[in-house]
Amino acid sequence: MNENENNNILLDVKNLTTTFSTQEGNVAAVNDLSFQIKAGETLGVVGESGSGKSQLFMSILGLLANNGKAEGSVKYKGKEILNQKKTLEEIRGDRLSMIFQDSMTSLNPFVKISDQLTEVLMVHRGISYNDALNEAINMLDMVSIPRAKTRVHRYPHEFSGGMRQRVMIAMSLICKPDLLIADEPTTALDVTVQAQILDIIDNLKKELNMAVVMITHDLGVVARVAENVMVMYGGRAIEKGTVDEIFYTPSHPYTAGLLASMPRLDDDSNKALYTIQGSPPNLQNLPVGCAFSPRCEYVMDQCKTSVPPLECFDVNRHRACFLDNYQDLIENINRGQ
Ligand code: SF4
Repeated sequence: MNENENNNILLDVKNLTTTFSTQEGNVAAVNDLSFQIKAGETLGVVGESGSGKSQLFMSILGLLANNGKAEGSVKYKGKEILNQKKTLEEIRGDRLSMIFQDSMTSLNPFVKISDQLTEVLMVHRGISYNDALNEAINMLDMVSIPRAKTRVHRYPHEFSGGMRQRVMIAMSLICKPDLLIADEPTTALDVTVQAQILDIIDNLKKELNMAVVMITHDLGVVARVAENVMVMYGGRAIEKGTVDEIFYTPSHPYTAGLLASMPRLDDDSNKALYTIQGSPPNLQNLPVGCAFSPRCEYVMDQCKTSVPPLECFDVNRHRACFLDNYQDLIENINRGQ
């Protein structure tokens, strides 16, 4: 990697492992995970529930529950931030911001939107209430809240679900962060509102030159907004690549299964959609060897005893799988149906 590329790296995560101590023993929610995010990049992090994708970013932001422990290294612009409470308090909500699926859990129902938005700016920027209020109104305009000047003085329950999600986005972006982490931001919304919210995030990303991590179980969302993709399963990254690489030539049976189970606009065959057999893994009781082995159509003896390492096999492409012949996974799934 040359010096320019190095300077461009916003977040550098190395060998991050997150463990929760429970009555049943230790649970590794994130296992030896490494990745980088460059300024202005959108990374899609894909996985079913229980894949560890949300806990990964809670670890990065220092928001783990009390029984959680994160180890490894997370550097923001070259500075170590993992478990650095004071630094994280300064940059969280300011340089690194997060949007959650349910806006009602992040907005205080008893406090007017104006007070919630201005407080963020007054705390992080130290500006006056009036200046902060003007910025808040601008931000509500940017996320397409009609009549922002009057609506800013309302309470969260006076907004619809889609509008509240826009307010959440405004709150996350009001300090113009370098990185926005969006955790299933549109899952609870209907398809039309979902498309509007994704467009708003994408437009603001360009306007503010910010990097975005889109955490989702929905490959359609990833296709719409991301440039690069990391697929997670059982707390590990199992495939990484650009959106085109992952969508056109998946190299892991799990990724191929996810893609084959997506409805396609160009397929009018009326064939039933593929479903990956079995259920997502229980992190408290992961299978020995490859976590996907109980559900994998290609499972071999080796898969049941050893964990496949994540290996680079082409420029920036990575996969964690022992299968040698992975070139036609999607075609094989479609033929086998
Ligand atoms: Fe399937 Fe084996 Fe690859 Fe795991 S390592 S995905 S079980 S082929």
